[in-house]
Amino acid sequence: MKKSLSIIIPCYNEETVIRTTYQRVKAVLDDLDLQSFIIFINDGSLDNTFAILQEIAEADKQVKVISFSRNFGHQPAVAAGINHCTTDLAIIIDADLQDPPELIPDILKLQEAEQANVVYCVRKSRSGEGKFKLWSAKLFYRTLNKLSEVQFPLDTGDFRLIDASIIREFNRMKETGKYIRGLISWVGFKQVPFYYERDARLAGKTKYPLKNMIRLASKALLYFSKKPLQLATSLGFFSVLLGVILALWYLFGKIFGYTHAETGWTSIMIIVIFFGGIQLLTIGVLGQYIGVLFDEVKARPEYIIKEEIN
Ligand code: UDP
Ligand code: MG
Repeated sequence: MKKSLSIIIPCYNEETVIRTTYQRVKAVLDDLDLQSFIIFINDGSLDNTFAILQEIAEADKQVKVISFSRNFGHQPAVAAGINHCTTDLAIIIDADLQDPPELIPDILKLQEAEQANVVYCVRKSRSGEGKFKLWSAKLFYRTLNKLSEVQFPLDTGDFRLIDASIIREFNRMKETGKYIRGLISWVGFKQVPFYYERDARLAGKTKYPLKNMIRLASKALLYFSKKPLQLATSLGFFSVLLGVILALWYLFGKIFGYTHAETGWTSIMIIVIFFGGIQLLTIGVLGQYIGVLFDEVKARPEYIIKEEIN
């Protein structure tokens, strides 16, 4: 029997590219000897994306459309795609053609040759993106690896191939805040890299301005590392130790008369500000984790589907 493949494409306000994306993906799939499907997730787009997808799905029954009740974000959109996969293989790809669909045959070949469960695509270069984005992404992935309990491959996005065993394990994950590339690494099995050049966005605007980049980065950190909490504890130990040393020093100073207690304003101010800062910082770190707990305990669904086509 032929193997089956789904292409998962999250879309948010992508009216300017979505048709081209469909055509390019379709052209690639037509040349493959696989039973293939395209799953578009319309993440509450405010433009014509849904109407265009409806039109595409009308003409092509291999195209499935999942439409959210509002914008839930890129990660929930990809998660919905994976949740709806019933194929042997799936490839996650962005709608903006930054990850060229023409690489799909090579990715499949690599999977076949290596008998891999995951082929994650590593960006050798990224054109059309600002220095700041490149630099911050580099720094972030390296820091995350230092802090996290799982090791993540560097310079990868969600562009990757996963097989049925990964899909099965992914679908057992209950957390609502999913950092997908992290979770897939976490699952394990055989994961191999595929190197490629990332293109510039074909048209339209990026939906990952600084605010969203920070949100994704803190999600990765909070869900995959307890190091910030350990750091808070270490800071606490450090300040207790310092406090004990200072207390002994001044106590003995008083007894043996080698300190003059009056001249102390500057040192007191410095200590108060410094430790006040440490306290607020560590309470803040705690607060971040409590926020995540709060969200997870509520256990709201990760996304809400308004409509499904095909
Ligand atoms: N996306 C989405 N929901 C969102 C934001 C983005 O489904 O809330 C999709 C978007 O349509 C695209 C992919 O996620 O297919 C990646 O977004 P984008 O290309 O804007 O990010 P960048 O490549 O600039 O990091
Ligand atoms: Mg993009």
